[in-house]
Amino acid sequence: MATFKEFRNNVKPNWCPGCGDFSIQAAIQRAAANVGLEPEQLAVISGIGCSGRISGYINAYGLHGIHGRALPIAQGVKLANRELTVIASGGDGDGFAIGMGHTVHAIRRNLNITYIVMDNQIYGLTKGQTSPRSAEGFKTKSTPEGSIESTLSPLEIAMSAGATFVAQSFSSDLKQLTNLIEEGIKHEGFSLINVFSPCVTFNKINTYDWFKENIVNLEQFPEYDPSNRMAAMNKIMETEGMLTGLIYQNKQRKSYEDLITGFQPESLSKQDLTLSEADFNKL
Ligand code: SF4
Ligand code: MG
Repeated sequence: MATFKEFRNNVKPNWCPGCGDFSIQAAIQRAAANVGLEPEQLAVISGIGCSGRISGYINAYGLHGIHGRALPIAQGVKLANRELTVIASGGDGDGFAIGMGHTVHAIRRNLNITYIVMDNQIYGLTKGQTSPRSAEGFKTKSTPEGSIESTLSPLEIAMSAGATFVAQSFSSDLKQLTNLIEEGIKHEGFSLINVFSPCVTFNKINTYDWFKENIVNLEQFPEYDPSNRMAAMNKIMETEGMLTGLIYQNKQRKSYEDLITGFQPESLSKQDLTLSEADFNKL
């Protein structure tokens, strides 16, 4: 069985020292090892942004896609080979701005993939512009007088789009984050894990200390029932989206792959999925 170190390749991450994304990479590697995967059973598909580099740093199948398009690619990978464990990842700009149309429909489609958003509430790669996750009044070079747009709530959007697994974590809480990624991988459907991941270079407001002061860990509420959709929505709104832990899980709804006609393993032979050389030459 592969250890978490075997999910690391020899490419040195070029994230800034202190970036939250390092811990997210470590958590993905640990979770993959803990659920018993081998590197060849995992595909990590990413979008564009600092976060998007992650697919190049993990020893597994990987594809660094185009901006906002990690999810269409990840869904295609999963449909082409449902034996693979597929993780899609990207930043808040990637998934909740240009890619938001894909995010909402991937959530309601409910393929069995895990989507990890590295949410630093800013655009990091392009040197610090306001993102849909930035707070109202947030000042950057793109909003020098402060953002006048409301802050997008990915958790509320996921819930209203019919998500079957919604979780949130903080890059500094490696234990919780690893555990949530494990649960997300094991979940039979689409799992959204939004992770607060501080951008130490450009976001001087939402710092590690700021998150520590503002996060509400669901462990404080032992009576909380993540299968209760209404309770989940209420808790998200009560905490203004700052809660961490497993917020909602619906284990009843089947995944897309399990429902789609003609796509059951018994109706597909290896031959169905393999293009012959003669067919390829006709394309
Ligand atoms: Fe991380 Fe921000 Fe540096 Fe990008 S710019 S690597 S998000 S700290
Ligand atoms: Mg970002």
